[in-house]
Amino acid sequence: MGEFELIRQFFAAASCAQAGEGVALGIGDDCALLQMPAGEQLAISTDTLVAGVHFPESPDPFLLAQRALGVSVSDLAAMGAAPVGFTLALTLPSAEPDWLQAFARGLDLMAQHCAIRLIGGDTTRGPLSLTLTVFGRVPVGMALTRKGAQVGDLLCVGGELGDAAGALPLVLGQRQAEPAVADALLARYWSPIPQLELGLALRGKATAALDISDGLLADCGHIAAASGVELVVELAQVPVSAALLAFAGESAARQCALSGGDDYRLAFTLPAAHLADLQQAGWPVRVIGRVMAGQGVTLLDSQGQPVQLPRSGYQHFGSASD
Ligand code: ADP
Ligand code: MG
Repeated sequence: MGEFELIRQFFAAASCAQAGEGVALGIGDDCALLQMPAGEQLAISTDTLVAGVHFPESPDPFLLAQRALGVSVSDLAAMGAAPVGFTLALTLPSAEPDWLQAFARGLDLMAQHCAIRLIGGDTTRGPLSLTLTVFGRVPVGMALTRKGAQVGDLLCVGGELGDAAGALPLVLGQRQAEPAVADALLARYWSPIPQLELGLALRGKATAALDISDGLLADCGHIAAASGVELVVELAQVPVSAALLAFAGESAARQCALSGGDDYRLAFTLPAAHLADLQQAGWPVRVIGRVMAGQGVTLLDSQGQPVQLPRSGYQHFGSASD
């Protein structure tokens, strides 16, 4: 199958590739054209996933597509942006129709969930890797950045942490678990659902935000540094799921939640005055600490004593101390 036939059959024909709101011209020309409403800014983010680094070699293509798009769109959620479109640069060792069909189905499912359209890409031969660029829109001045956390704000997360990191032994086939536990943890690894609606609800309320990709403590460090404050995390308040506790035990579950990464849940700082409204409206807002004058991240145990911090988040080139 030639490159153009492949693009036509599996990508241009996908339902997520049909032009629509915000996309004036989609796949098929030299560029796509996006229509931005007056008073809105374009939010853009790129992520690359490489086989053997970000996912196992020979992954299920349906799950891989879901995960790649979910991970990418999560950056839009973290900015409080509404999804518009995405491009897909796909490098493949060979063009297998069954593989591409399943991949396109996974992509369609997550794209439909996120209301985002495939607007273009590139297709090349080589070791399996994917680069997705997502485009979103946000009213001028309303984007949620990492800078802006204020002393006295609450530190919050958008739900339970650590499931995806805890699922790794299952993903790699090193361990097994009873179906209910395995399904719950594997779903959090393979189909991270971006917290888009929460991101929109936090516009004009959260003072700083990001999505947790490298681990709670490492990512809190990014807010602390950008905002020039100290973030205090209370270990006992960090939410973990029953499935993770059952699978990994208390101590390993906490470790996954603090430093595991791949959560793709939002972490944000919030003036206390907004908490009750958000929680009453049903948003998954869990308070795990507070913003203080100072710098860096401090973890407190259940007695309120500072804990020696575990290893910081995953880094591709050396450790944090290098
Ligand atoms: P060009 O030569 O101008 O770079 P290509 O031949 O690479 O264009 O691609 C033709 C069209 O197909 C373009 O609109 C491009 O955005 C789109 N396209 C190529 N690969 C993909 C892909 N994997 N997913 C979605 N669209 C793609
Ligand atoms: Mg090209």
